[in-house]
Amino acid sequence: MMQAVETTAVAGGRLTIDLAAIRANYRQLETQVAPARVGAVVKANAYGLGAVEVASTLAAAGCRDFFVALLQEALALKPNLPTDAALHVLNGVAPGDEGLCARHGIQPVLNSLGQALRWRDAARAQGRPLSAAIQIDSGMSRFGLSPEEVDALAGEPGFRAEVDVRLIMTHLACAETPAAAVNRGQLDRFTALAARFGPGPERSIANSAGSFLATEFHGTLVRSGLALFGAEPAPGALGLLRPVVGLEARVNQVRTVEAGAGVGYGLTYVTMGRTRLATLAVGYADGWPRRLGGRASAWFGDTRLPIVGRVSMDSMMVDVTQLAPDALAEGDYVELIGPNADLDAVALAADTIPYEILTGLGARLARRYVDAAPADGDLLS
Ligand SMILES: *Cc1c(COP(=O)(O)O)cnc(C)c1O
Repeated sequence: MMQAVETTAVAGGRLTIDLAAIRANYRQLETQVAPARVGAVVKANAYGLGAVEVASTLAAAGCRDFFVALLQEALALKPNLPTDAALHVLNGVAPGDEGLCARHGIQPVLNSLGQALRWRDAARAQGRPLSAAIQIDSGMSRFGLSPEEVDALAGEPGFRAEVDVRLIMTHLACAETPAAAVNRGQLDRFTALAARFGPGPERSIANSAGSFLATEFHGTLVRSGLALFGAEPAPGALGLLRPVVGLEARVNQVRTVEAGAGVGYGLTYVTMGRTRLATLAVGYADGWPRRLGGRASAWFGDTRLPIVGRVSMDSMMVDVTQLAPDALAEGDYVELIGPNADLDAVALAADTIPYEILTGLGARLARRYVDAAPADGDLLS
């Protein structure tokens, strides 16, 4: 059964988000890391795909651990989660935000001694213990307590009575490079420092890529974003995951030009012969990278339609000469991300990573959610 919800009637581009594929990827990751659990990272509006829709889908599939980057994201998401779900703020809690965070039952990731002590003070002020996660910097120099801060906090009398430390985490700098020796070094440093808080709290080390490292890296909870959304988190992992995102652009108009015609800003492309061009209603303001001009293609069925000239803010031109003259009409859609152009290939062509492509996809794209339940016999094995 197919359910489709149109969020905008006539947008320049439409993004299709396959919720069933997100669910299948979640199951795949569960299998990958069992007995560890899979937490969902839905920061930055679930990488642009819609935090509420994605988190609701995963909650219905049994996920009970969610991570966002900022308190503002947590406040927006919290009412949409089951009451027994944990919602963590990766960037921690800023001075003055503790009360707000506590009142909404949101768990900060305490990243410094100062944050940890302010969270304890908030617990005192509320007259009840508050739960939290603690992050240890095991070598990335981004977030988390230093070894000295871990010492200080572990020796802080009464801290554990007022702060219920549910989870101790760290983050790997090179998880997508399984051969990198620094991964093991980070794991060893983390394991030694985390032991200072006793065996009670859960352990979390891996993001999506880390979920494809050895079992020791899985802890009790992995934190996955990218793999849920169908991009390749680590070499060789892609075959296991289902693509989630499709992007199509609407055809604004089609024209035929003679040989020698300049195309787009700067006339950087000049036609070699008589050429049919389609102007698509997606541009860099929609998050389609400007540098893909001359470096990527749209697709109509199996036909490749090279992007010619520069990508503009709201449009770009593709060469459609290969198509039958009446194949494409105004209002038709062509594929930008889909079966012929996967997200990873688009990111590679743009000299970036799929994270940046996804999170850059613009607000004016229509977002359409499909949830195609697998038919009998069509279940992922
Ligand atoms: C964003 C983030 C993740 C998720 O990373 P993916 O590679 O998308 O799985 C996990 N942990 C932390 C701390 C993050 O910031």
